[in-house]
Amino acid sequence: MNPSSRLSPPVLVSRSRARVPAAYSDDIEQLLISAPRIRSRVTEMARVIAEDYHGKRLVVVALLNGTILFLAYLIRHFEFPLSMDLIGVSSYRGGTSSGELEYTKRLKLDLRDQHVLVVDDILDTGKTLCAVKAELARQHPASLRTCVLLDKPDGRKTDCEADYVGFIVPHLFVVGYGLDYDERYRNLPFVGVLRPHVYGPGSAP
Ligand code: 5GP
Ligand code: MG
Repeated sequence: MNPSSRLSPPVLVSRSRARVPAAYSDDIEQLLISAPRIRSRVTEMARVIAEDYHGKRLVVVALLNGTILFLAYLIRHFEFPLSMDLIGVSSYRGGTSSGELEYTKRLKLDLRDQHVLVVDDILDTGKTLCAVKAELARQHPASLRTCVLLDKPDGRKTDCEADYVGFIVPHLFVVGYGLDYDERYRNLPFVGVLRPHVYGPGSAP
């Protein structure tokens, strides 16, 4: 298998021509990636992943909670048998700073000799994905790859990279399409940047 060879490279998303819907404009400053653009890119990712794993049984391991929308849209395109499990892991509490990893839900599936695809919402420092990969590798899967919707390469503090990347985003705190600020905004159908007043004075990310 040759990872992501057929996936067109992710482009740096700086802004979208789409306007922030009025219902969200009090809190969202800028729309970065529109819903149709996310749908079309995730469809392409799913097609390439399906080709890469052709004939193999895939185990999808997704990280809670930020992957919920991405995961749901990605895996509905896979027209082959797969197993799926979720890990609860969080690197920060309430706000935005990365700290120690906290496991809130452990994996149930046995990964030995399985082809495993780890799905996360966003790759920033890389600490989360690095730690999760190391943990899963201890189960000796047949293969272990990673897939993220968003990548912030300017935030990287590890040598961890993802095999499949949806979009490259600037070094800003983004919300929507599963990503939260203080457990809000996960339901937004697009990815956007919050207005500073939402964080409150002195607590900007
Ligand atoms: P890392 O460990 O790579 O620094 O961060 C990964 C985790 O931090 C992500 O899974 C996500 O939960 C959170 N995170 C990093 N950057 C952002 C961001 O811009 N917005 C949101 N909502 N979460 C982020
Ligand atoms: Mg996360």
